[in-house]
Amino acid sequence: MDFKSSSDLQIFLLLLLASIAFPFIWARDLHDIKKSQLLFPQHLLGSSKGHNIEGIHTIKMHLQRYGYLSKNYNIIDTNGAYNNAFDDHLESAIKKYQMFFKLPKSGVLDMETLHQMSQARCSVPDIFENNENETSVTTSNLHIGSKYTFFPGRVKWPDSLNYRLTYALVNNFPEEFKESVRTAFEIWYGRSRFNFTEVSENEGGNIRISFERGVHGDYHPFTKNSKTLAHTFAPIDGRFHFNADKPFSVDVTYNAYHLRTVALHELGHAFGLAHSPSEDAIMFPTIPTNLEKDLDMDDIEGLWELYDGFGVA
Ligand SMILES: [Zn+2]
Ligand SMILES: [Zn+2]
Repeated sequence: MDFKSSSDLQIFLLLLLASIAFPFIWARDLHDIKKSQLLFPQHLLGSSKGHNIEGIHTIKMHLQRYGYLSKNYNIIDTNGAYNNAFDDHLESAIKKYQMFFKLPKSGVLDMETLHQMSQARCSVPDIFENNENETSVTTSNLHIGSKYTFFPGRVKWPDSLNYRLTYALVNNFPEEFKESVRTAFEIWYGRSRFNFTEVSENEGGNIRISFERGVHGDYHPFTKNSKTLAHTFAPIDGRFHFNADKPFSVDVTYNAYHLRTVALHELGHAFGLAHSPSEDAIMFPTIPTNLEKDLDMDDIEGLWELYDGFGVA
């Protein structure tokens, strides 16, 4: 290389230096961004069995809430203090969680696991305990891979309804989101033999959809620091609640959750589908902003199985 002047050489050296330094700076920034997005204390990163670490109860609460840690496990000990021991129960709950989300099954709270736990999600559990009929997610079907699941007891709408369901948008349902919900019903209609009719708020409705905030009378509050977007009760309850404190949008955008996509997911619950470990399925429990999803064959096959293969040919 021939440098005509010392300033050329200086520029070359500067560029060389920048090209070496920049990837490190970039990598460090990415790491910081990820860390700042965690819902949990950052010092939990890397913790594993045998540790006793302040704040680990937040992980236990998350895992218990979504069915990975037994409801009989005491997160608060007899003295009223948090049990912050990283014990066998927690390790196996984390491994179960990692299996569901197809992460390396290390049992360690690594970045990928904490990041997944920090994603916005539906607040219906992924795993149901004490399920006599083994219809929910079991360890065995997690081994097989990805498949739809049902609520305990395979609860569903009775045959007497003849696949006719009514729905109502209630409690001052926001005008701007009504069409998105109606479209979600149309999409499910197109892949099933269900017929849906919208009725007015005071006519009842098998499925009643509203935006709710905080504690809202169903013992499943949308808590302040959670990233729960919505939840729906299994048949034949029909209550379907969006979290009014979260940003939703009709269009796909970076700073909000696509309302029709969330509606498609919650309607799956309203019909009797539970969560699927398949990332492509609408019944996958977490969702980033800026993502629009449609029904997947996993969802449709789940519905067909629940309703005795009544799907369209
Ligand atoms: Zn859900
Ligand atoms: Zn609710």
